[in-house]
Amino acid sequence: MSEATLERGMNAFREQMNAPVASFFSSCVNCGMCAEACLFYTETGDPKYTPIHKLEPLRRVWEQEYTLWGRLKSMLGLSKPVTDELLEEWETLIYDGCTLCGRCSMVCPVGNDISYMIRRAREGFVAAGYAPEGIKGASRRAITIGSPMGVKFPALAAQIKHVEADSGLTIPVDVEGADYMALLSSMEIMNFPEYLEALAKIFKQAGVTWTISSEAFEATNSGIQIGSSDIARELVNRVVVAAEKLKVKYVISPECGHAYTAIRWEGPNLIGRPYDFKVVHILELLDELRSAGRLKTEGTEDDRLTFHDPCQIVRKGGVLEPPRNLLNMVATNFVDMNDSREMNWCCGGGGGVSANERAEELRIKAFKRKKTQLDELNVETLVTACANCRLIIEEGLEEYRMEMPVVGLTEMIAEHLVEDEK
Ligand code: SF4
Ligand code: SF4
Repeated sequence: MSEATLERGMNAFREQMNAPVASFFSSCVNCGMCAEACLFYTETGDPKYTPIHKLEPLRRVWEQEYTLWGRLKSMLGLSKPVTDELLEEWETLIYDGCTLCGRCSMVCPVGNDISYMIRRAREGFVAAGYAPEGIKGASRRAITIGSPMGVKFPALAAQIKHVEADSGLTIPVDVEGADYMALLSSMEIMNFPEYLEALAKIFKQAGVTWTISSEAFEATNSGIQIGSSDIARELVNRVVVAAEKLKVKYVISPECGHAYTAIRWEGPNLIGRPYDFKVVHILELLDELRSAGRLKTEGTEDDRLTFHDPCQIVRKGGVLEPPRNLLNMVATNFVDMNDSREMNWCCGGGGGVSANERAEELRIKAFKRKKTQLDELNVETLVTACANCRLIIEEGLEEYRMEMPVVGLTEMIAEHLVEDEK
């Protein structure tokens, strides 16, 4: 990142110019419908947050270098070049004002996948040196230390010890030939260690053989967030090497949204080959165990509660029904939000926005969308399945003085396991 220059950025933009990007730009009819789908536009009313507008630097490169009309305009001096000033100005739109949530892509009448293009545009921004300090630091730590929050294995080992001492359960580490290898996000390790205990309880009852790898336990992929395929590739590769070394059949992506899309959907393309194992999200696995009768629960949650669909898991990952099947096992008063499932609104902190301190004020403004959704429902508890969403929502609720517990779904299921089988 230290050698970033405008020239490198321009080259990176050119490298992103594949058929989908070209066809998306040429098919945009400038209808502006994507604006109404984006929480940064709806909550600020500022037209600069219109999703397609955020892509202006990438669009300029496409038009000026890949279209006849654009080349003519350049020759006649009628088009504006991409400059450092332009990238500096747009950096806040592309990183602070987009969570890569993909909601805009759902409404575009010509099917433009804008979050796909924003992800690609970030490749040019980071190569040119325009990325927020917070995400740069997280990426640096992920590469050098192994985790964006700087969590090394001894810190996880200490959490494992605590959990084992508190619960009497065993957390297996580096067990060769286990069926499942569980990944964690630093957020879970440091902020929500109860997730680890929940896994141990559930897997013990269901008879699942599992392990954690001391060499690759981190699921967070800062490379995807900052928009660097090189960093993303290295981070995915670490997990792949560790899983193949332990000869596991499955890798479990944790309650972390973008980690799931990174390892499951982008990973094989990044490393250029399929894996020797399958990737499942923890909710998919829990739902499989449920339907096979291997999850035995007792008691119910009778609060009026709702579920926040994490964008990357639900909208982009397609894990729509498992959380609902699981909730219906233990909750008697579950209500869906308006605009739930694939049309759910982002918490405002995905896509690296939560790692970007500069974006905090905007993020809190964008959280008003979630507040409105919650106000419409009059619920007492919010359940979710992404550690990042959970933290961002907790902060947002505090900011708007809304008292409401936010609970992880895996932990809720673990709480209801039949006692003598825990
Ligand atoms: S909704 Fe689609 S076609 Fe309309 S302005 Fe946005 S990207 Fe262009
Ligand atoms: S991906 Fe989400 S946050 Fe980004 S522009 Fe589209 S709707 Fe807005």
